[in-house]
Amino acid sequence: MNLQNHLIGALRGAWYRAGAVIAYEPEDEEALEREFAEMLQASRFDDAREQVERLAADPAAPRCLITSMLADLGSELARQGRHDESIAAFERAIELGWEVEPDGRCEIARVLLLAGRHAEADALWAQLRAASPADIWMLNAGGISYSEARRDEEAVEWLADGLRVALSDADSEQLLNQMSDERRAAFGRLGREHDELEREVNVFRARRGDRRDEQTAELDRSERGSAGPGGGSTATVVWLSEAAEHLARERWPGWADGLVIDEPFDDRAARMEMTMRRRRADGDGSLEVVTIDLERYAAWCEEQECDPAHRSSRGTFVTVERDAGAGRPWPPNRNEPCWCGKDRKYKRCCGSPTTRDPGASQP
Ligand SMILES: [Zn+2]
Repeated sequence: MNLQNHLIGALRGAWYRAGAVIAYEPEDEEALEREFAEMLQASRFDDAREQVERLAADPAAPRCLITSMLADLGSELARQGRHDESIAAFERAIELGWEVEPDGRCEIARVLLLAGRHAEADALWAQLRAASPADIWMLNAGGISYSEARRDEEAVEWLADGLRVALSDADSEQLLNQMSDERRAAFGRLGREHDELEREVNVFRARRGDRRDEQTAELDRSERGSAGPGGGSTATVVWLSEAAEHLARERWPGWADGLVIDEPFDDRAARMEMTMRRRRADGDGSLEVVTIDLERYAAWCEEQECDPAHRSSRGTFVTVERDAGAGRPWPPNRNEPCWCGKDRKYKRCCGSPTTRDPGASQP
């Protein structure tokens, strides 16, 4: 999720700064980090904890390297549903002086929500919010975490505070689009209309007039599989076949950071199909699907010298591909191959009348 992206970004910065003044050579740090990432990938959590504690006992080891490892450990454990261990890792990071924005306890509060420990989570979120009520990153983290836990009423409320901060300072942190998208998805799940605040957001966006942001938001929404407001133009849906997605995740750790795609491929395809049908029913302009070709993408990233794991690289690549005419109009003809990349006719795959939005049945 986005919270993660931000945390990792912040950590990286701290780490490189520290890299210049400590006894460890940067090469050593890189090797350590690689080794540690391999442990996490193989779910060797005991080894990972041992490694961290060995470094923690070494006065020459940079604190930010250790806390960054603990944060990665905590995230991976949370991803695997090992919530208590995840919280322990984040607590250890905080104990060792983890410097991160927003407050590292946001991660703990998020995991408490994931673990269904709602009373503890609510208490911690309330405490964090009371301590810095205008911290937009914290409000964003809280909103996303509640949204992730499908506590949509709370998500709407937290993100409302975040949006007010963004509107009051001309979106200096550039979180407005992301927060509004997340909030509109929560409204959608609640079956509620957008409120006055979202209309203010629309006005702000229109006044800002940066088409580029709108395009990016459109792509983000597509990737995230949630519906957004249309502008009568052609919206581009970013897609990967099941196999390509698997490969991408294997090849570029961090690929999935910031995406709400930890659901079965079929569910995601069904969700996207229903999103596109809704959009069409609303008369919100036409749709096209750009399916990322991994080899072309890898080559493009190399040429452009950008990080293939990073979401913004993907966004730019898709824009380039789309402008070159790589998009396929949706819906395809009923007897054409399905847009989702499965080896089936559209009418027998996502185009089947029995396709349902998997989110609709979620609590
Ligand atoms: Zn399909």
